[in-house]
Amino acid sequence: MKIFLIPIGMPRHEVFDRLAAGLARSFSADVAIEPKRPIPEEAYDFRRRQYYANAILDDLAGEFIINTKEERVLGVMDADMHTDPMNFIFGLANRRTGCCLLSLARLKPEFYGRKQDKELFYSRAIKESIHELGHTLRLSHCSHRRCAMFFSDSVNDTDAKKAAFCAACKRKISARKS
Ligand SMILES: [Zn+2]
Ligand SMILES: [Zn+2]
Repeated sequence: MKIFLIPIGMPRHEVFDRLAAGLARSFSADVAIEPKRPIPEEAYDFRRRQYYANAILDDLAGEFIINTKEERVLGVMDADMHTDPMNFIFGLANRRTGCCLLSLARLKPEFYGRKQDKELFYSRAIKESIHELGHTLRLSHCSHRRCAMFFSDSVNDTDAKKAAFCAACKRKISARKS
């Protein structure tokens, strides 16, 4: 598999190198960090003061026409985002286009008034990236708390899960490949 990492509205920061290494390992993938793209202005929701994730995801899918058999696109942004009916989301995926999106805003301990912890932040970013890429591999949410496909309602859920799929989710992925 080939994964294209796209910084959206943010510079290419150390987090991209950590994501590239983590995703290469998890998916045995070739990961490329692409040039940064602006956040589409129309995606900003002035009332909520957040970005509307679906608009950004659609913009990405319009820009990157990929071979969905082997390629995936993961957009990563610093800004906070939401989708209906959620107040916020860590990420969003579209299985049809093979594109997914991650927001780093709420993965940082500082967001919750805690002290900065880069390793914790990077590990959360990797887990939620694996989760969104899992959706593009047609996985749904999983009830195993330790599985990367468990739905994170808060960072506590993210911290409780592993940066890996459970055996049942792994079986689904390999069954769908063949
Ligand atoms: Zn999910
Ligand atoms: Zn699972």
